[in-house]
Amino acid sequence: MDLQVDLDTGLMRGVRQVASPNCDPRPAGVEADLIVIHGISLPPGEFGGPWIERLFTNTLPAEIHPYFAEVASMRVSSHLVVQRDGGLTQYVSFTDRAWHAGQSIYRGREACNDFSVGLELEGTDTLSYEEAQYDALAEVVAALCAAYPRLSPDRLVGHSDIAPGRKTDPGPAFDWPRARRLITAHCRQAPGAG
Ligand SMILES: [Zn+2]
Repeated sequence: MDLQVDLDTGLMRGVRQVASPNCDPRPAGVEADLIVIHGISLPPGEFGGPWIERLFTNTLPAEIHPYFAEVASMRVSSHLVVQRDGGLTQYVSFTDRAWHAGQSIYRGREACNDFSVGLELEGTDTLSYEEAQYDALAEVVAALCAAYPRLSPDRLVGHSDIAPGRKTDPGPAFDWPRARRLITAHCRQAPGAG
């Protein structure tokens, strides 16, 4: 992969694009300076279906699964999803605010959606994430850091870090030391933004 962010559009080149309507502009003058890692699977514990995309495009069929009935009416999104095989789909321009964090706080600043990029890994809190996902995540984070100077490998948190007591993802299954090691390695060799 050779990922680069187009700074005019906020879209990552070389990545599959599906537009989610669940986004809006960031507050005036606010740029992303935090990356939030999430884990998601629909239904919980099942991988590979079309359901994350359907959730983010407000077309999840509520009648198919009891869990879908709970979440189908939610208006949520993330900037980008990393599938189990490392495949990437972007749903929201990095310029815009994706609706991924909900009620949240980071170092005293509330509403983390305003100033963060949300990256979603297909997975659960307890089942190991795939090697291909760590590799793809590292490439994505490196490309983001190259494009947006306020982002950096140490401005990286889990959803559970900014919504403690409410959210647990990406969970203990997410290997932070491994992710940070790969991200640091990729950031040293990242090409500039285009
Ligand atoms: Zn989350």
